[in-house]
Amino acid sequence: MLKKMNLIKTFIDVDGVILLPHTPLVTYVNRHHLPSGTVPFTNEDITDWGFGRLAKTSGLDWRQCVDILHDIYRTDPRSIPIADEHVVETINWLLGNTDSYLLSANAVPDGLTESLRYHGVRTDRLIFNGQKEAFDFQVAVEDNPTYKPKDSQILILRDQPWNRYLPADIRRIYDSIELPGIISELRFCSAAR
Ligand SMILES: [Mg+2]
Repeated sequence: MLKKMNLIKTFIDVDGVILLPHTPLVTYVNRHHLPSGTVPFTNEDITDWGFGRLAKTSGLDWRQCVDILHDIYRTDPRSIPIADEHVVETINWLLGNTDSYLLSANAVPDGLTESLRYHGVRTDRLIFNGQKEAFDFQVAVEDNPTYKPKDSQILILRDQPWNRYLPADIRRIYDSIELPGIISELRFCSAAR
């Protein structure tokens, strides 16, 4: 007899997984804080959670970079691109067909919501909370290299230049299109237990 399939409760982070505010951040830093004679920055220069090489070379600190990100969300949320070409369709499918939620710690919820809606991403399962650890999710989709999955929580890391120094054994995706397959595989593993 087939076992009833368990639903895997998943949270999907927004910044760095669905939206990429780092791209307009880099544009802004190149325009206003590029030391003369320096090759323009790219997202690859954000080499850790403290904005890495971009911060060190430009002289900006973590707080200033975060403030720039917030300003972009406040003033021009529609300029923020999506993380990859499949992400809108993939995330909407996951939200409609699995027990998935968007969970964001972003301090400018209006701007983030507007950016998601502009790109056509559903926002009816969007939760804002800086304490992600407080939620009982079995799977976490994150780009944050400092995120610590709790207990038996499974971490799926969205590859970004700022998390590449993490150990190779962490499950990593390079495009959102990989997500439905992984989540469905986890669901079957869970049902078989
Ligand atoms: Mg993030």
